[in-house]
Amino acid sequence: MSIYRIAVAEGDSIGPEIVRASMEVLNSLQDAFLNDIKLDFKEVEVGWKGIKSQGSSLPDESVKRMEASDGLILGPLDVGRYPAGDPGGPSPSGKIRKHFDLFANIRPTVSYGINKNYPNGEVNLVIVRENTEGFYADRNMFMGSGEFMPTNDVAMAVRVVTRKGSQRIIREAFKIAASRMQHVTAVHKANVLKISDGLFLQVFKEISEEFHSFKADDKIVDAMAFDLLLNPQKYDVIVTTNMFGDILSDEAAGIAGSLGLAPSLNSGDNFAMAQAVHGSAPDIAGKGIANPIAEILSCGMLFQWLGNRHNDSRLLKMSHMIDEATRKLIIKRENLTPDLGGKGNTESITKGIINKLTEVNK
Ligand code: ATP
Repeated sequence: MSIYRIAVAEGDSIGPEIVRASMEVLNSLQDAFLNDIKLDFKEVEVGWKGIKSQGSSLPDESVKRMEASDGLILGPLDVGRYPAGDPGGPSPSGKIRKHFDLFANIRPTVSYGINKNYPNGEVNLVIVRENTEGFYADRNMFMGSGEFMPTNDVAMAVRVVTRKGSQRIIREAFKIAASRMQHVTAVHKANVLKISDGLFLQVFKEISEEFHSFKADDKIVDAMAFDLLLNPQKYDVIVTTNMFGDILSDEAAGIAGSLGLAPSLNSGDNFAMAQAVHGSAPDIAGKGIANPIAEILSCGMLFQWLGNRHNDSRLLKMSHMIDEATRKLIIKRENLTPDLGGKGNTESITKGIINKLTEVNK
């Protein structure tokens, strides 16, 4: 019997609804198909739960529990509303990324034909976003903040691009492309940011030479924002720096048709965190209509990462079953949530995916 320890933080607003839905899917997978694996889920407090019980959106005790785990499932966080001076602030997810050195943020986009503006085949691409440096003031400095005000009227932000940071994210992109269409596109603004994005692009060109059989090209970020809307089917794996990746992946989620379809994994060498791309959606919290698909698919990505790391084909199978069951449900448009144009709810999607697991158990 193999045991995998997974920390679970439900997060805020719709977080508990979609994380519980994900747990239902994972538990039924385990019970029905994976008798020789134990998924040991341990709840950890992050977000409002932590603030209320321990005065921090990221209590030390929660971090210790994560350290004792193989991975983390994290619900969306309502960071904008946390009290000033919160020791977990400004962003618990950013702190977790930094603490575990989760340098890769992997954000797939699959359209499943939901967005009728793309009738000529499915959009299926992955954005691989550098996660530890760039413009993100909460994580790009060893000490202090990368954002500061020298005077009352001047605000500055420092953008960090390193050779090591670029190398590891670009290698990750080629690794992901190896099991896809073997096409990697680097996105940058090296025509203006000649030194920082120049370094990123130079590293991309060096590494792409190691992958002779792959197609490797690059695009300036503004041209990419335009082309992604018009021709998303042209792309396979897109690799880019932190903020460009953040923005382009939301654009890609729009192309797919809903933020509720956009999963993501934050991964490092020794730890990974599953978290949907979307925020905590306070406008629909408690109504039972939150789409759990992005969180469920993020969990599937975590099990794929764990399967590769531990060379455990059972976990890879589990991840594949989650993908396939979800795909079947979406394509048949069965009881989907309102964000996908349906009349269903969180529960109907969850039950629908669970029912389809048997069909995809091959
Ligand atoms: P936050 O302040 O936490 O970022 P937000 O509402 O500003 O929250 P998102 O949570 O990303 O930002 O939501 C943007 C819009 O997309 C909202 O109208 C929200 O209801 C909708 N949305 C986001 N996630 C989902 C989901 N899983 N299911 C259905 N609708 C969603």
